[in-house]
Amino acid sequence: MRNRRAAIAAVAGAASLALTLTACGQNSEGGSEENKSGSDGATIGIAMPTKSSERWIADGNYVKKDLESKGYKTKLVYGEDDPDQQVSQIENLITQGVEALIVAAIDNKSMNNVLQQAKEADIPVISYDRLILGTENVDYYASFDNEKVGELQGTYIVDKLGLKDGSEKGPFNIELFAGSNDDNNTRYFFQGAMNVLQPYIDKKQLVVRSKQTALNQVTTLRWDGGTAQKRMDDILTSSYKSTRVDAVLSPYDGISIGILSALKSDDYGSKNKPLPIVTGQDAEVASVKSIVADEQAMTVYKDTRELAKVASNMVDALLNDKKPEVNDTKTYDNGAKVVPAYLLEPVAVDKANYQKAVVDSGYIKESDLK
Ligand code: BGC
Repeated sequence: MRNRRAAIAAVAGAASLALTLTACGQNSEGGSEENKSGSDGATIGIAMPTKSSERWIADGNYVKKDLESKGYKTKLVYGEDDPDQQVSQIENLITQGVEALIVAAIDNKSMNNVLQQAKEADIPVISYDRLILGTENVDYYASFDNEKVGELQGTYIVDKLGLKDGSEKGPFNIELFAGSNDDNNTRYFFQGAMNVLQPYIDKKQLVVRSKQTALNQVTTLRWDGGTAQKRMDDILTSSYKSTRVDAVLSPYDGISIGILSALKSDDYGSKNKPLPIVTGQDAEVASVKSIVADEQAMTVYKDTRELAKVASNMVDALLNDKKPEVNDTKTYDNGAKVVPAYLLEPVAVDKANYQKAVVDSGYIKESDLK
């Protein structure tokens, strides 16, 4: 047992009533009163980035459920995509005496001070899905193989355009979108995709007419679909008056939906102007519906139920003085240390396999796709 736990338990007994949850009515508390083995009823703080995307709502609920099934109590907060709000929520969680933190950061670089406070209170921190940068005070990282996510998106485009295996087809027009520049995953997704696409851009089989190819030209602050829609609108106006776009690399379903709106406003999807191949990520319901309707071409499914399990197992191990299971100790250098990680496998999903991958697996209910 971590020494801190006995002390915390005593303090918590006296002080728990005073622990008012201040942040915005967004906290939720749960867990059984009864201590189950291994947990001693400790409370775990879970800080998620936003409720504006389905996946994070699901992540929060899965982590909470998983920890509660192990006998922990939980405090789950959402930061509304506002880094300052998230930092103060984490400060509150520390003050409230949580014994471990699971954090999916909004801005990876905004956490240094608050995680120093966590360190001083001997609270272990799991960086959830998005690696927190620039601090030693991150104990473990639970995520997916983020570069592979991008590779799956890039490979899908290359396959569907028939460019593989030495084909001289093309040139095809492509435009590139990336995620939020304050999310460490963004560069991994983009790098993974460009590993696959760049050779075809070099051979001029793929052409980026907007000429916006550098990561800092193609990011989308806070992964916002509206921002992506506006950028796609601008690109269509400036670079596609006389020709069509054949593929759009999109890193996330919410961005894909924005891109598709811009395309449809420009008559794409009509008889003589087919929609380009548009990628995505997260298998959100709206995007899976869009895939079934032959609009978005694919998404990358990441089973967040599994990710939640990995993160809560890490917490459980740490609070019981065991070593969490990891499968990567090299890739994720956060600038202060290489953070030991457990990475799960992402899966490419399109109309051909969505039923098996996301419906039969119970990730999405068939009825939600009606
Ligand atoms: C996650 C993606 C998600 C994106 C936007 C990333 O950090 O890894 O799954 O699409 O954030 O929420």
